[in-house]
Amino acid sequence: MALTISSSFDAGNIRVIRQDGDSADLEIVTDHLSDFYQWFYFRVAGGAGRALTLRITNCAASAYPHGWPDYKAVMSLDREDWIRLSDTSYSGGVLTMKLTPPQDLVWIAYFAPYSMERHHDLVTQTTALPGVAYRSLGKSLDGQDIDCLTIGEGGINVWLYARQHPGESMAEWWMEGALEKLTDEDDPVTRVLRRDCTFHVVPNMNPDGSRRGHLRTNAAGVNLNREWHAPSAEKSPEVLSVRNAMDEVPPDFAMDVHGDEAIPANFLAGFEGIPSLSDGQLRLFNLFSETLEKVSPDFQRSQGYEIPPPGHANMSMSTTQLAERYGCVSMTLEMPFKDNFDLPDEVYGWSPQRSKHLAYACLDALHALLPDLKAAQAERARAKREKVSA
Ligand code: ZN
Repeated sequence: MALTISSSFDAGNIRVIRQDGDSADLEIVTDHLSDFYQWFYFRVAGGAGRALTLRITNCAASAYPHGWPDYKAVMSLDREDWIRLSDTSYSGGVLTMKLTPPQDLVWIAYFAPYSMERHHDLVTQTTALPGVAYRSLGKSLDGQDIDCLTIGEGGINVWLYARQHPGESMAEWWMEGALEKLTDEDDPVTRVLRRDCTFHVVPNMNPDGSRRGHLRTNAAGVNLNREWHAPSAEKSPEVLSVRNAMDEVPPDFAMDVHGDEAIPANFLAGFEGIPSLSDGQLRLFNLFSETLEKVSPDFQRSQGYEIPPPGHANMSMSTTQLAERYGCVSMTLEMPFKDNFDLPDEVYGWSPQRSKHLAYACLDALHALLPDLKAAQAERARAKREKVSA
């Protein structure tokens, strides 16, 4: 019997090139109106007990070819639990996955998917909890809402937003963890955070790319994290709506959550190269980073992106644009598609659960930063008053 391979569902992505008995050659489909691709997600039916060989043959020209060495795909038998396919190998631009499915329907993906249906469950169930307010900040090009949850009564404004790059599904697993902790009223850290801060949480900034099975872009093939200097209603309404909401309630602290294909570690990227960089701003960023390293063994500061020299920041990205525009402390959190190789998990690799635990740790680190954030906020207000009276 022939295998049936398909991806025509929420966030699915694969194209079958050739099938022959127990093996199949596959290709990842590019984002619509874009050359980016790396996210795949498909199901295989009819393979119970057969030794299957599935080859993705167009990996060499994908967005991050360095993401494939040492990478293992994930498989699920129930669409809840995603384990690594231990017999995944990469050579000559081809990712080869060998498996003998124990049942006739299995699901395979680049990382544990976070579907739009699950997103709606998360947003709706969180909205139902005490002290949570919901609003739509605007619409995507496909007409989906940019959902935002507001939690807390304090004067420190914290913006958490994720999935500008839709294929980085660990970012929304992180968000699910952050929202779990922020709505746990028995957690003393949560109680203090909700007293002193107001959280503005956008769990998914790119619903169109998410549903379309994109890696990096929206419905118009636009990379949202290169639009923050000049977002537009035509190309990047997702960014425009979030940026406009931030103009109304400027962040004191902002975190943009992502995944990185190549680096097998969790790390932060900051805003060192912005024109108006202040010592205080940079000190807060470093303090947060050091604190997070102390509270989470899954976080480290030695591996990461190259830091641009003064004045050479890419201002089209959200982290740099927010730090410049609001004088706040902002950062990009990167989690691995592979694993944290310093603390590896052979069965799951980097996973939804570990993404959630990192979110808990980030909120613990934020709690430790509160006195410094309050001082920085008072200092900015004082400087603004002096500017007005001068
Ligand atoms: Zn990203």
